[in-house]
Amino acid sequence: MATILDGRAVRDRRKAALSEKIRGYARAPKLAIIQIGDNAESDVYIGQKISFGQDIGCEIVYARFEKERKESDVVEKIRELNSDGSVSGIIVQIPLPGGFSAERIVEAIDPRKDVDGMHSANVKALAYDLPGIIPATTRGILTLLDEYKIGIAGRKAVVVGRSALVGRPTALALLNRDATVTACHSKTENLSQETKSAVILIVAAGKSGLIGAEHVSPGQTVIDVGINVSTGEKLEDEVPKRKLSGDVRFDEVSEIVSAISPVPGGVGPMTVLSLFENLIEAHEVLAGGI
Ligand code: NAD
Repeated sequence: MATILDGRAVRDRRKAALSEKIRGYARAPKLAIIQIGDNAESDVYIGQKISFGQDIGCEIVYARFEKERKESDVVEKIRELNSDGSVSGIIVQIPLPGGFSAERIVEAIDPRKDVDGMHSANVKALAYDLPGIIPATTRGILTLLDEYKIGIAGRKAVVVGRSALVGRPTALALLNRDATVTACHSKTENLSQETKSAVILIVAAGKSGLIGAEHVSPGQTVIDVGINVSTGEKLEDEVPKRKLSGDVRFDEVSEIVSAISPVPGGVGPMTVLSLFENLIEAHEVLAGGI
């Protein structure tokens, strides 16, 4: 049986350290969360961020826009938050409703406050291996590997998925940490041949159970980023039950590999933690924070 890379345990340890740090600041770091329209999944993620942030002593401001509002209203709000010296981080919850351009909206954020690491200045910094803010999920993956002392430099890392949000920044960040990186995607021929050759396999495809025994080999570390939600079953109170699964068939893969992150309880908790680690760093840069 593989070592379980326990994201919740790592989160809780580092959460305590973050609270401690924040207690020493003259004022609380403030995160602004912008949501546009309605999206049940986004509500869950925003709820997690608000409760984590408040737990560690951050201040959270939440602004929600109806999907009928103009994009320029959102941009105006972002400009206001940019010039508000008490705000250290701004995030816009993705996905956005039709008609809104995430690219244009994120570009309006001051890159120093872009704690999701999606502004082109931060994307460029990652591509050029310069200081900048990296996306929370990518940071969470690296932290999870580091916490379990899984070496990255010189090793073969295979990333399945090439999205701007997860796959691409993760492949770049691993390259910056001197891994030998292969990026796989939906057009990759012979996926299992690629994945089997990895020492570190990161899966972020958003396809429940995509990776099974036939894709892995002994000795590997497997990080399952996928969060696939099914709402088939009902709870007693008739609210649809939210059931999460990863992209990796945990039961069969965990019998073969050396280490594996579960879903839930792996990368998910690390992502929320990492967002606030980004915020704290932004706060220190912007406000002299302490
Ligand atoms: P996306 O749909 O934008 O991208 C999916 C990527 O996977 C694409 O690049 C596509 O080419 C690739 N892909 C799809 N099917 C494939 C296949 N059969 N073989 C190989 N590659 C394939 O999704 P995303 O935003 O990158 O998210 C990926 C998954 O990670 C989703 O399940 C999402 O919910 C999850 N996620 C988790 C966290 C977290 O904190 N754990 C954060 C963000 C996203």
